[in-house]
Amino acid sequence: MNIVLIGIQGSGKGTLIAELEKFYDFSLVSTGQLLREEAATGSQLGKKIHQMQTEGVLVTLDIVIDIIRKKLSNIDNNIVIFDGFPRNKEQADALDKITNIDLVIYLNLSRDVAKDRIVNRLTCNKCGYITKRYAVDNFDCPKCLGKLTQRADDNEESINIRFETYFKETYPLLEMYKQRGILTEIDANQESTKIAKEVVKVINERINQK
Ligand code: AMP
Repeated sequence: MNIVLIGIQGSGKGTLIAELEKFYDFSLVSTGQLLREEAATGSQLGKKIHQMQTEGVLVTLDIVIDIIRKKLSNIDNNIVIFDGFPRNKEQADALDKITNIDLVIYLNLSRDVAKDRIVNRLTCNKCGYITKRYAVDNFDCPKCLGKLTQRADDNEESINIRFETYFKETYPLLEMYKQRGILTEIDANQESTKIAKEVVKVINERINQK
């Protein structure tokens, strides 16, 4: 079962993934995280990726497809969740060639709320755990030995570029998946546990249909 998560940056995809871990054994393909891991190696490729991520522009398709193929070749799981991919029609077409998508979850959140969340979010540099700046009194990750930091691309300039790309390139994919009958829209303004509950219901329904 392949699930795609789509939502504006800050809509809570990372938080939802953490909640879903309580319900399912799944493999995660998070292109943002996989690219950050490559960037952290400091390799030639990593440096190129780091620059593109910091600027908030999309990393080129060949690089993204390469890391996805590598990741998928190591996955032996019935449930795979794609986070941050596909982000445009070109990537959606590429994904269709790689695998079948069963379900697309769309976390719907307004641009203003999303921006407010991003400028106030802290992310663990090791495990990707996400929290709010005002919810912590130190910068130690509560889940691992990592440090909570502001992501290099969570700055005003980069956020604006990422939002533009989202509305221009990613948002139109929703209509395509709606027409395929695999799209579910969730109100991302709700409490994270409520969102997870709704998503679990949809996933279970889909599992039972299979
Ligand atoms: P995210 O963690 O999903 O917000 O992604 C952070 C950054 O990683 C993006 O702004 C892009 O630079 C890059 N990135 C993540 N996913 C993709 C993708 N599917 N295609 C191209 N670039 C990506």
